Amino acid sequence: MDHFVYKNGELFAEDVPVAKIAAEVGTPTYIYSKATLLGHYQRIAQAFLPLKPIICYSIKSCGNVNLVRELVNAGSGMDVTSGGELFRALTAGCDPKKIVFAGVGKTDKEINEALSADGGSGIGWFNIESEEEFWNLDRLAGLKGVAARGALRVNPDVENKGGTHAKTFTGKKETKFGVDIDRAAAFFRLAAKAKHARLNAIHLHIGSPIKVTQPYTDAITKALALIDELARDGIVIDTLDIGGGFAAFYEGNEAPAASVYADAIVPLLKDRAGKGLQIILEPGRSISCNAGILLAQVQYTKQGGTKKFVIIDAAMNDLIRPTLYESYHFIWPAKPGAAMVPASRLSTLRVSGDEKVDVVGPICESGDYLAKDRYLPVLTRGDLVAVFSAGAYGMAMSSNYNARPRAAEVLVDGSGYRIIRRRETYEDLIHGE
Ligand code: PLP
Repeated sequence: MDHFVYKNGELFAEDVPVAKIAAEVGTPTYIYSKATLLGHYQRIAQAFLPLKPIICYSIKSCGNVNLVRELVNAGSGMDVTSGGELFRALTAGCDPKKIVFAGVGKTDKEINEALSADGGSGIGWFNIESEEEFWNLDRLAGLKGVAARGALRVNPDVENKGGTHAKTFTGKKETKFGVDIDRAAAFFRLAAKAKHARLNAIHLHIGSPIKVTQPYTDAITKALALIDELARDGIVIDTLDIGGGFAAFYEGNEAPAASVYADAIVPLLKDRAGKGLQIILEPGRSISCNAGILLAQVQYTKQGGTKKFVIIDAAMNDLIRPTLYESYHFIWPAKPGAAMVPASRLSTLRVSGDEKVDVVGPICESGDYLAKDRYLPVLTRGDLVAVFSAGAYGMAMSSNYNARPRAAEVLVDGSGYRIIRRRETYEDLIHGE
């Protein structure tokens, strides 16, 4: 799962005590484990090897350029959703031809930037989300005198079998993403007439996290039927991007292994991949989530009615997932002592002498919490606490709300570590104003 483990009653990131990082870098700080990041990438790469896919790490999940560079060095491409993410990917040295660009509202500026990549031959694929966007891509490619490759994001209208949060399930009709599958064939036929943009690929992304394999197999089965229907019309689909959404470990027992997803998906695609269908995957969370923790310090504790509050120096601006998605993050003291080392990360975990608390931040919102009604060992002012499984959609979704400088980021590699993003200063807050 990850390399954040307790040794002699104290939390380590790989071989570095996190308390050492807190003493030297301060809190709140995101701490990443290189071995965990690369381990999750490698497991996906290994499991899907029979398809020889391009793995495009979804940079939106955690986009620090230093982490992205590690994945690029391991062979990864990138899934980007904005000009800024494209800039991050290219800065990290990503092969532009291994970049896919998604998003319903790409601006002309962003499209032009992507067309200009790779010395003007452009990125790998634009994941097309609407008819208007496709024709705009064709127009812009024509103005530049270049060719562009598009993949039509098809909305396969599959059931949310794994109970993914409504805000992050995108595989049903009536989401803003992609084009309904029953309109897709007509779209492809029309797009075949375009002069500068080729539409010979299908993109799926059904949501995140998808904890069961059936929505994938349902969506891929529908996409393959569409590929066959188009082939009968002489339209060749040469690439199928199956998106991201593989689950990660928050409680420790809920995410299928990469090999479980692969066991369900590879048999559907192996023959076609063997005959030249290029497969693309866009995993984000399943690579970055367990690679990061958010380390914070207890400022105060207090009683409010029947509730006890533990107020820490990390807040919803640092990690918005609990209040945005009602998501669970395991939280535990960094130095609980040998007797209080957690036996698991389950939400039901109890230890003797624990107490029920809300873990909250200092922001002026009652939605500013990281955990509610959580049983924890008794915490006191100055204690360090770790918020686990915070690598994905943690720092990436952080903000400066309440004029809070954003957290530092640290990358641990074995017994060493380095700051990969310095803590913001007050001057950073007003820079550009
Ligand atoms: N691809 C697309 C188009 C997405 O929108 C997302 C997430 O929102 C992803 C990939 C990555 O999803 P995950 O981080 O769950 O793998």
